[in-house]
Amino acid sequence: MMTLSIMSCSNGPVKETQPEEFNFLAERFADLKIMRYQVPGFEEFSLQQKELVYYLSQAAVAGRDILFDQNYKYNLAIRRTLENIIENYKGDRDSDDFQEFMIYSKRVWFSNGIHHHYSKDKFYPEVSRGYFETLIRQTKEGRFPMREGQEKEEFIAEIIPVIFDENIAPKAVSQESGKDLLLNSACNFYDGVTQIEAEEFYKNLKSYAAKNGSDTLVSFGLNSKLMKRNGIISEEVYKLGGLYSQAIEQIIYWLKKAATVAENSHQQKVIESLVKYYETGDLTVWDEYNVLWVKDMDSHIDFVNGFIETYGDPMGMKATWESVVNFKDVVATKRAVIISENAQWFEDNSPVEPRFKKSEVKGVSAKVITAAQLGGDCYPSTPIGINLPNADWIRKEHGSKSVTIENITYAYDQASLGNGMIEEFAGSTEEIDLAKKYGSQASNLHTDLHECLGHGSGQLLPGTRGDELKNYGSPLEEARADLFALFYMADPKLVELGLFDNEGIYKVEYNSYIRNGLITQLTRIEPGKSIEQAHMRSRQLIAAWSYEMGKDANVIEKFIKDEKTYVKVNDHKALQMIFGKMLAEIQRIKSEGDYEAGRDLIEKYAVQVDQALHSEVLTRFKKLNLAPYGGFLNPVFVPVTVKGKIVDVKIEYPDDYTGQMLGYSKNFSFLPTYN
Ligand code: ZN
Repeated sequence: MMTLSIMSCSNGPVKETQPEEFNFLAERFADLKIMRYQVPGFEEFSLQQKELVYYLSQAAVAGRDILFDQNYKYNLAIRRTLENIIENYKGDRDSDDFQEFMIYSKRVWFSNGIHHHYSKDKFYPEVSRGYFETLIRQTKEGRFPMREGQEKEEFIAEIIPVIFDENIAPKAVSQESGKDLLLNSACNFYDGVTQIEAEEFYKNLKSYAAKNGSDTLVSFGLNSKLMKRNGIISEEVYKLGGLYSQAIEQIIYWLKKAATVAENSHQQKVIESLVKYYETGDLTVWDEYNVLWVKDMDSHIDFVNGFIETYGDPMGMKATWESVVNFKDVVATKRAVIISENAQWFEDNSPVEPRFKKSEVKGVSAKVITAAQLGGDCYPSTPIGINLPNADWIRKEHGSKSVTIENITYAYDQASLGNGMIEEFAGSTEEIDLAKKYGSQASNLHTDLHECLGHGSGQLLPGTRGDELKNYGSPLEEARADLFALFYMADPKLVELGLFDNEGIYKVEYNSYIRNGLITQLTRIEPGKSIEQAHMRSRQLIAAWSYEMGKDANVIEKFIKDEKTYVKVNDHKALQMIFGKMLAEIQRIKSEGDYEAGRDLIEKYAVQVDQALHSEVLTRFKKLNLAPYGGFLNPVFVPVTVKGKIVDVKIEYPDDYTGQMLGYSKNFSFLPTYN
């Protein structure tokens, strides 16, 4: 699974590169911002490693067309129409209308189609149909993606309603209950098939496999389109010689080159196995590949490439194509390893009652990676964490890889520095300065403690099953992991382990956690709504409860200045003790399965929103005019050749979003318009 959300409080790691020399924010339009990320460490690679990254990166962008077609059958036609106008229209390009046309084009590139990448709703150009038709008519050069024998006017009559008509394909993925999910979704995984027919088809396929002794654990339907032709339903498989063959051929070409420069023989097997899967479309080979992939822990360079996530299919079966090329961030991974290796010390010394503690605790060692290239469903909007493979049986029997992508979170944070968020909501200039200085280190440390120790700490009493807390279980679990992290942030043990050397770090984390839990996370809640999301409930629970526990001693102060509400932590050491008390109580609730106590805490502190404060916060936030969604430009790897042989690979960081998109469409577009 992909971790998509970016915590509003996180601030990324501190790297040796000087951020002021690198422009992290490239462009802003509509509700989007386009950022750039750096790939520190690439230059130090051996030639063989550089070549490997280069070949895998080529494979990562070679499948771009596939995703466009998967999202909606007209997406490639529309993208090619837009691009032909952009490249060949000779009329007024400075007019407001043309600027709006460009924004629409940029949004289509960003969403890999005409539906919003997040909401899945169709979006529309802010120009008239007439203007759009004129653009097509007056673009005489180049080529529009017309069907065979189609006249330009016929083409206009077909394509314009698809773009403008609100009744045509309004939603890419519909989850509306009571309606046929497939007939109401525009995504292109099913053709002429109803939801009931699709469910029936895969039920039969599974029982057929069971009867014939073949593999029943494969991810049925993952890499195919289900279609009905002349009353017969069948799958068209994504593979060489099958659906999307022209793009898959290119992916295979680059993967084969990558196999020749693999870091070790195991990694070579991993790549060859993926090639075999693309050649055959066989899902048992896909599983074999995943088992090999998950066991490859030693290679420095790693990658994801395939039909992987199923969020784009309302039935959650069919996977969209994606790729991420990455390598280990050695310094950051070391940090996580140190924490993991000391897991027992943290468990033994936690403020929790001894009978709720694990006598033997194993820390989870999270790997931190640096992304080098993003493709398909990970581009330009990208996850900040990856946890794969998705098949449950492989996770159970062979484990999974869980990684956080630190150069991406770092770029997010650098791009948002100076966007006014901290300045608007922090209680003092001292707090702002501290946040800018240590915010990134602090939030990384918090994440490590939360992931490597927090969730794995503590034990259930005999007789407690673990599901007693029901719907309150996940916010309480997140609160438990957060409190474990918060409590230890201020412990001298972290200094002793060399994890930080300045107490500003935990102070920053305490300030931002309380500020986020009581104020800034409200910016993500719609007016009149209460808090539902587990992580958000956990944060408000901790912030509101600790505010109340420290009220008499004024540990956390709320104040109003110029009609704006602020919070301020007055006593960080006292707050640490409060976090310890809360951790002990939430661990007790979990260990004993005390549903009533858990429910009361959540309902009292974590759900309701102060309406007056909420509307004040929303007003302040709106004035900052921030883009809610972001994506990234890819760096480009340029091989340096002497007599046809690669002698070096250089990395370049383009800053022209339109240029990169047009370049991809020119050099990495292999599919026909209609598939
Ligand atoms: Zn968690």
